[in-house]
Amino acid sequence: MFSKNDEVDILIEDISNEGEGIGHVNGYALFVKDTLPGDYVHAKIIKVKKSYGFARLMDIIKPSEDRTEAVCENAVRCGGCQLQHYRYDRQLDYKQNKVKNALVRMGGFAADFIDSVMEPVIGMDNPYNYRNKAQFPVGKDKEGNTVIGFYAGRTHSIIDSRYCYIQSEVSNKVVSIIRSWIERYGISPYEETKHSGLIRHILVRNGFKTGEVMVCLVVTSKKVPALDKLVELLGDIDGLVSVCLNINKDKTNKILGDKIINVYGRDYIEDYIGDVKYRISPLSFYQVNPVQTEKLYSTALDFAGLTGNETVWDLYCGIGTISLFLAKSAKSVLGVEIVPQAISDAKVNAQINNIDNALFTCGAAEDVEDFLTENELQHIYGNPDVIVVDPPRKGCDSKLLDTIISHSPERIVYVSCDPATLARDLKILCEDVYEIKRVRACDMFGMSGHVETVCLLSNKA
Ligand code: SAH
Repeated sequence: MFSKNDEVDILIEDISNEGEGIGHVNGYALFVKDTLPGDYVHAKIIKVKKSYGFARLMDIIKPSEDRTEAVCENAVRCGGCQLQHYRYDRQLDYKQNKVKNALVRMGGFAADFIDSVMEPVIGMDNPYNYRNKAQFPVGKDKEGNTVIGFYAGRTHSIIDSRYCYIQSEVSNKVVSIIRSWIERYGISPYEETKHSGLIRHILVRNGFKTGEVMVCLVVTSKKVPALDKLVELLGDIDGLVSVCLNINKDKTNKILGDKIINVYGRDYIEDYIGDVKYRISPLSFYQVNPVQTEKLYSTALDFAGLTGNETVWDLYCGIGTISLFLAKSAKSVLGVEIVPQAISDAKVNAQINNIDNALFTCGAAEDVEDFLTENELQHIYGNPDVIVVDPPRKGCDSKLLDTIISHSPERIVYVSCDPATLARDLKILCEDVYEIKRVRACDMFGMSGHVETVCLLSNKA
């Protein structure tokens, strides 16, 4: 058994969900941040648990062949990227295998079978500058200097960053303008430990297709000095359509408060996924990688095999992105989502696209049956041809899996952000009624260990 501060030499074999390398010494699993499969490293144990522990990388004895130089000088300290030192083509192989292994080990499917249904992972053409939404914390360092950047991994200490490689160019430019405004006009950054100061976060959203840009300052008070000067300076940003304040007075980890005050232009931007337009406000949920989202939804649309006559359920629909993407090719779509604000956004998005065959309702996906019965909608939506699910990491509720099986639609399209719960749910769905036809992973978050998967199941009956 190991103790804290023991030092070991260890061969890294795998990567955890959080992007840490995993290896074994005498059968004991150790998680070592900033290492990769194939690295042989010297590490110091920092935390010991019963069946596994954590160690800090001290020295790379022999690097993995898949290593590359991280582009960002903050890559090791910053909590944002975990895999910058991993060649991008190997990141994609890793994600492909992660999905396959989950389906084999946790889903109980044969490896040969999974190979036969799995298509190549959809990678990014450019795995940098891909995000359309940036949230930079603002604070002070020990010397009292303003710092704007990112939280160091698992902490709230802010690393000052002059350029983030996964954010868009325009977000980086906005930050440098706000930084000079803070310095020139002596605006006070927020200090979390004292719960004092004014500027907490900078939120930037930009529409990749429309070029529209929104800047939202998260502040502790609506009395912001020299705000007119900021708006003037932000005039340098092409496509700026909105500047607003978000008031967050609370002592909380939550980034955004509920109140928005519009300072310049409108209080939303618009963007497209495919030819569907979406209205995005500071508080709305919207996919952060629009280029890959379009590929993901196109895959889901392809898997759904719609001809125009189908009744479709889109469960866990968020702001209705998938529902609206599918509506034009279906007879009718029912979107179900638990967050009320998301459902009102979905309704607005249906309206601005003149889509009138999508109905959105706020509630739990697992209660969809009750909703149809109570509202006497069984005759319209009661016999879905296709059910799409896109649940959070915890996967589908077991009651929902029963509901799906009892309705036995022709096809199920399962969009998943966690291969483990995907495998667990597919095992249940494929026990009797369904079989996996197609599986495709898609990389939405380059430089992180996360992977999104779309899966087509077909009814065997
Ligand atoms: N399909 C959407 C959002 C998927 S994220 C998109 O592509 O943008 C998963 C969504 O499930 C979140 O919006 C979350 O609020 C919602 N959710 C979580 N639990 C739910 C439940 N039990 N029933 C319905 N929706 C739920």
